[in-house]
Amino acid sequence: GNGGSSRRARPNVLVTGTPGTGKTTTCSLLAEAAGLRHVNIGDLVREKSLHDGWDDELQCHVINEDLVCDELEDMMEEGGILVDYHGCDFFPERWFDLVIVLQTETSILHDRLTSRGYMGSKLTNNIECEIFQVLLEEARESYREDIVMPLRSDNLEDISRNVDTLSDWVNNWRPS
Ligand code: ADP
Ligand code: MN
Repeated sequence: GNGGSSRRARPNVLVTGTPGTGKTTTCSLLAEAAGLRHVNIGDLVREKSLHDGWDDELQCHVINEDLVCDELEDMMEEGGILVDYHGCDFFPERWFDLVIVLQTETSILHDRLTSRGYMGSKLTNNIECEIFQVLLEEARESYREDIVMPLRSDNLEDISRNVDTLSDWVNNWRPS
């Protein structure tokens, strides 16, 4: 059949995790090291207006998941895409060969989000999201367990180790 990854020459990787866990930093380095195309969904949504307006309470765009998936379909079919987003349950399961969930120790994440200007409920919501491992659970509910890989992202050593591990994985990947 045509399921799975059989038509791609290179793998697609999703990097998810609570805001501040280091997705964009990791993806920029990994895209460079492994020759993947980095697609930051937040940026794409803003650039192409793939949203239904601004949510004042959550202070973010209300992402239009159908528009985002339509926009990405052709490139995902080609392969070699590195998707960067703090959510993972609305992408087609068949798109990804590996799903990374970055995780950060709570006090470290708290400092990162504070320096980014987060406060009040936006700050506590994100901290709780990390404490309760919301993204790990969402990934495990949305993808086959054996392609979901949690990785620690507390410090710069973690980032270099993760980038090394993942670029090796990408380079050793073969179509099924
Ligand atoms: P995300 O894309 O997940 O929101 P970013 O990559 O934008 O996270 O990182 C948020 C901030 O935290 C940046 O200033 C980044 O330099 C820092 N940071 C992220 N991950 C790490 C890490 N593992 N070690 C040290 N600093 C990090
Ligand atoms: Mn980011």
